[in-house]
Amino acid sequence: LQATTTAASSSTQYPTSHEQINQPIDTQNWIDNKLVPSKTDQWIELHDPATNNLVTRIPQTTEEEMKQIVESAQKAFPGWKAQSVLARQQIMFKYCALIREHWDRLAASITLEQGKTFADAKGDVLRGLQVAETSCGITTDIPGEVLEVAKDMETRSYREPLGVVAAICPFNFPAMIPLWTISIATITGNACVIKPSERDPGAVMILAELAEKAGFPPGIVNIMHGSAKAVDFIIDEPLIKAVSFVGSNKAGEYIYRRCAEQGKRCQANLGAKNHAAILPDCNKNHALNALAGAAFGAAGQRCMALSTLVFVGETKDWAPEIAERANALNMNGGFEKGADLGPVISPQAKKRIEDIIASAEEEGATIVLDGRGKKPEKYPNGNWIGPTIIANVKKHMRCYKEEIFGPVLVCLNVDSLDEAIELINDNEYGNGTAIFTNSGATATRFQKEIEAGQVGINVPIPVPLPMFSFTGNKKSVAGGGANTFYGKPGIQFYTQQKTVTSFWKSEDAVSTRAKVNMPTQS
Ligand code: NAD
Repeated sequence: LQATTTAASSSTQYPTSHEQINQPIDTQNWIDNKLVPSKTDQWIELHDPATNNLVTRIPQTTEEEMKQIVESAQKAFPGWKAQSVLARQQIMFKYCALIREHWDRLAASITLEQGKTFADAKGDVLRGLQVAETSCGITTDIPGEVLEVAKDMETRSYREPLGVVAAICPFNFPAMIPLWTISIATITGNACVIKPSERDPGAVMILAELAEKAGFPPGIVNIMHGSAKAVDFIIDEPLIKAVSFVGSNKAGEYIYRRCAEQGKRCQANLGAKNHAAILPDCNKNHALNALAGAAFGAAGQRCMALSTLVFVGETKDWAPEIAERANALNMNGGFEKGADLGPVISPQAKKRIEDIIASAEEEGATIVLDGRGKKPEKYPNGNWIGPTIIANVKKHMRCYKEEIFGPVLVCLNVDSLDEAIELINDNEYGNGTAIFTNSGATATRFQKEIEAGQVGINVPIPVPLPMFSFTGNKKSVAGGGANTFYGKPGIQFYTQQKTVTSFWKSEDAVSTRAKVNMPTQS
């Protein structure tokens, strides 16, 4: 394979089908606003999940190269910090405009590498763009406080950037999640090193190229490829002052712990098992559509997918109707017109999901809709699993205990709202939850008693827009959820507080004797 560019093509050149990759080209690192080929001899192959054709190879960046990447960011930091916030804001305005201009190209890269449908990939880009757009409000979001604390004395607070910060990203939102860091870290004056998922880094490469076009100085947005070794490097490198992680519990709990050992700032969003409680008094048509969309959209590979349905009372009889709607969804290559869901990310993921469905069968659950063995005619080699619904699930079953991260909806039955709340609160994850009801009183009780970070009332995927924060709970967020992504907490995460207390005496000092006690009056 030739080490040439995957990022330098013009905005009009991007794949519009799964067949277009004739000659795969190696992915490169992005350092000082330039593509830099890695000298590594270790590469990770990236295959299109719809065809399993080779798309590109990702370098396991060498230790020496990783050092260069961080040093480039460190070198760029003082100049960027010294720029006025208005200058940084102007660059971010341009960046937002460029992302919008290259929206289709970014989405196409996601569809090719990640597998989600083109329409859904456009949503992935938009949700990240909205964080970048909201970050432009930094001029009203970052000012500090000032108080005259004594005669001639005042205290002012400032938020200063940290230096070089890094993001370790998951495969399921290849544009949105890197933009959580790129936008907020840079507008607050930091330089960032992004380690995209090794399974779909194409969108980040385009985002880096657009950052250069927008006017980000060299080194402010660097891209470093790799997997576990690169992650360890990021955690252990003293020049990196903060780590943002989004991904599985297995990796995230390790990263959070190891950052804590180094005394390093870390924000980490982890796995999920999101429950929806469906009550007999809900708007049935709305609820069934919402549930099918939220369980099977993106082939269930969203951390906020509604993967667990809690039928309250007689709603358990609605399972066949949900199955009907799920079965009507069109599973196809993401570039195909009318595709509702694409493949799962890898053959290994497919196998694991199929094993979980089989375990549910063995443990006595009912397979209401079985997606195993289904595939679109045009793409026989992809990682396909059709929408699957498993009913009569019990808490001890593997399909309930594990995050499945595929197009599988598991359904449990309870008799009352109390039981639904108890069941949901008993689950170790707490990313999101939803209730479907037409009773305001029921919804309010649920909202107050439920232990999840994001609650939807007749809203299946209640991810807050960037003026709020991505609020997980329990095992879905490391460190008890103190450092959530974007919104005001996002700005706090990427900045260090400084307070300055100054004294400008308006009269001449009358005494020549120094005071040694803590002041006891103002
Ligand atoms: P993953 O943990 O496998 O990978 C995420 C990142 O961690 C990648 O960059 C990868 O290179 C790195 N990594 C993987 N294994 C590692 C290891 N052993 N040591 C060090 N680094 C490692 O996650 P994924 O499969 O890419 O993403 C899916 C997971 O992410 C799901 O669990 C999903 O719920 C979660 N997720 C959570 C949120 C959220 O906001 N809560 C959002 C998106 C995805």
